[in-house]
Amino acid sequence: MRDFAAEIEQRKRDGLYRQRRLISGAQQPELTADGKPLLSFCSNDYLGLANDAGNIEALRNALPRTGLGGAASHLVCGHHQAHHQLEQRLAEFTQRSSALFFSTGYMANMGVISALVGRGDTVFCDRLNHASIVDGCLLSRARLRRYPHGDVAALEAMLAGTDGHKLVVTDGVFSMDGDVAPLRALARICRRHDALLVVDDAHGMGVSGPQGRGSVLEAGLSEADVPVLIGTLGKAVGTSGAFAAGPQWLTEYLVQKARTYIYTTAMPPALALATCHSLDTIEAADDRRDHLRSLVERFRSGARAAGYCVMDSSTPIQPLLVGQSHAALALSRALEEQGFLVTAIRPPTVPQGQARLRVTLSAAHTLADVDQLLDALVRIGGDVPDHAEASA
Ligand code: PMP
Repeated sequence: MRDFAAEIEQRKRDGLYRQRRLISGAQQPELTADGKPLLSFCSNDYLGLANDAGNIEALRNALPRTGLGGAASHLVCGHHQAHHQLEQRLAEFTQRSSALFFSTGYMANMGVISALVGRGDTVFCDRLNHASIVDGCLLSRARLRRYPHGDVAALEAMLAGTDGHKLVVTDGVFSMDGDVAPLRALARICRRHDALLVVDDAHGMGVSGPQGRGSVLEAGLSEADVPVLIGTLGKAVGTSGAFAAGPQWLTEYLVQKARTYIYTTAMPPALALATCHSLDTIEAADDRRDHLRSLVERFRSGARAAGYCVMDSSTPIQPLLVGQSHAALALSRALEEQGFLVTAIRPPTVPQGQARLRVTLSAAHTLADVDQLLDALVRIGGDVPDHAEASA
């Protein structure tokens, strides 16, 4: 038998050991992690809705009407009126013809990609796409071609030399870098080469675009340009689950073919109703988005002035590029000693030599919270000599 324990020890020596923190209480910037009070800058709760009183009340009110459990898969007897209501609300929110509610974004990506392509087809995937997209591509058994990050010219050359069914898939906002995919150019070349474009807007949903409707609408693109939109509900929306939205044929086809939709228990229906409530809040949350933008600007200019290597991102994902895994861990630990929770992200989640601190901002933070983090980064700067090596 393989020596699994030795592999774990090796990971520890390489600075790659993954450890979970035990959180108690609600998800909000002031967290208790492993019994210690910390100010968190690492959740994806970009609008501060994970602990929103209105959403919690919507869930509490729904429970007596729907009960708790999903009880069966959608195709057996689990498809509840509440799920149907959420799907209609999601279609309206994203300005699309229809939407299908999945249990998680991971399952949505796996199910959608493996349903839409198969053996003999080709799928083109940005090098920095999320792991669930890559796994969906692998599960599909289509030929997988990865194009350099955001490189539309390289992608076009690949598309031009490929016959058969083609699918292009990209994150809308890249989860570990925070930059936005060149969506307009991608839509143009997909049309030119008759390729189906799939955008996973897990990190744009709620934050980008008019009334938080996402990166695709921010880019001025419609369902005709980007036929398949995937979004998650566990990040800015503050609840749980995910969806695929697009033309009527898409949702009908996915109900026939997407195995991660078909063979799983439906999500608790009350959660779908709480999510509808959250979408109402998001539409009216320009104040939260404005505040978030001011936090992003404050953090970027402060971190840059303190000598850190900020990345090219205008979204709430504001990574500090460090370089080596050990150095990223050291910076994360030094911040923790000062009372901040910011996770170090290391290979294989990011490329070798590009370990980083993934700082994320939330509308639930105050400007004073950001200033405190910046002060700590300034204090630590001198003690963690490698922190700026990536910019050198
Ligand atoms: N897509 C992207 C781009 C993500 O960042 C994530 C989660 N980190 C997912 C999909 C998976 O979504 P979920 O957490 O709902 O499974």
